[in-house]
Amino acid sequence: MKNRLVDYFISLVKIDSESKNELAMAERMRDDLMKMGAQVIFDDAHARTKGNIGNLIARFPGKVEKKPLLFCAHLDTVKPGKGIKPVIKNGKIFSDGTTILGTDDKSGIAEIVEAIRRLQEEHFDYAPIEVLLTISEEIGLLGAKNLDYSLLNAKVGYALDSHRIGSATIQAPSLNVIEIKVIGKEAHSGACPERGINAIELAAEAISKLKLGRIDKETTANIGKINGGVANNIIPNIVSLSGEVRSHSEEKLEKVTNEIIRTFEETAQKYQINLDGKVYKAKVDIKVDRDFPAMKIDSNEQIVQIALKAAKNINIEPKVEISGGGSDANIFYSKGIKVPILGTGMRDVHTLDENISIEDLENGTRWIMEIIKEYSKM
Ligand SMILES: [Zn+2]
Repeated sequence: MKNRLVDYFISLVKIDSESKNELAMAERMRDDLMKMGAQVIFDDAHARTKGNIGNLIARFPGKVEKKPLLFCAHLDTVKPGKGIKPVIKNGKIFSDGTTILGTDDKSGIAEIVEAIRRLQEEHFDYAPIEVLLTISEEIGLLGAKNLDYSLLNAKVGYALDSHRIGSATIQAPSLNVIEIKVIGKEAHSGACPERGINAIELAAEAISKLKLGRIDKETTANIGKINGGVANNIIPNIVSLSGEVRSHSEEKLEKVTNEIIRTFEETAQKYQINLDGKVYKAKVDIKVDRDFPAMKIDSNEQIVQIALKAAKNINIEPKVEISGGGSDANIFYSKGIKVPILGTGMRDVHTLDENISIEDLENGTRWIMEIIKEYSKM
């Protein structure tokens, strides 16, 4: 049986597009979207992200007077994503087991494109639509962070980049990455231990005082990496650690981050020695990077309600969700663009078992069509 949607999805996953190498995929999408009547432009984000093509922005003129509706997805995939050979088994599409499938996020792209194609074939009078396909989402939301926002006119829309069809993610936490360097003083551990300041000991004491893991319903903290020491007979003078704090509340994010900084600084003050009339003090260098800001869209917002109503219209159970991770949508939110993240049917993403059912591809497409119809009729 010939199925345009399935054939299209399969043709897209066969195009290699690991992060920073999205050129072939971007050119394919430019050609396809232009054939459908869109104006397509690229920004120059790749000049800053060191990729081989920028973000793609496509504009479909509307057939009714309305503000444009945005649909976003990302062009890149995680590794191993080269030479993907899709296989259909029992109504589901898998890779051959040696690579990921790339349904994250090509299911989103295929569903957006097929939905618009079908609406055009139905001669439906839709609102103006903008399609934004970003680069290098998987390696730190680089495309979204470096996007030329002057090229976007839409202020609301959807990112197709989640799992279950019918679910709309409307909240996601902010994330701080914390890098800590503890500096002690080196000395021979057998001959003159009193001349050293043990950075490992200091780090261990500070960590033992931290509250890690789940802090509360909205907040988590983790020390994820630690590195230090040279040899058993040397008192170590440097330990590097890194960790993160996530929270749905900016206030709590700041509070927990500051707590970690304060604990290291206070612990370091206890570590000092007096040598030959000179005082040696331990030091801590701490760097905090805001990786992404929180997203908090109210479930009563029209853009959320449209997605839920559209799901109901096609007999799919609607659901709002809160995520523990960040995505392009966090960055858009900080720029004043509200995009709930919708499920596309992708499963077991970022693994060799990644898959999607043909039924979900179809339902995802129908959901997007219904959303555009609801929005356009409003
Ligand atoms: Zn994704």
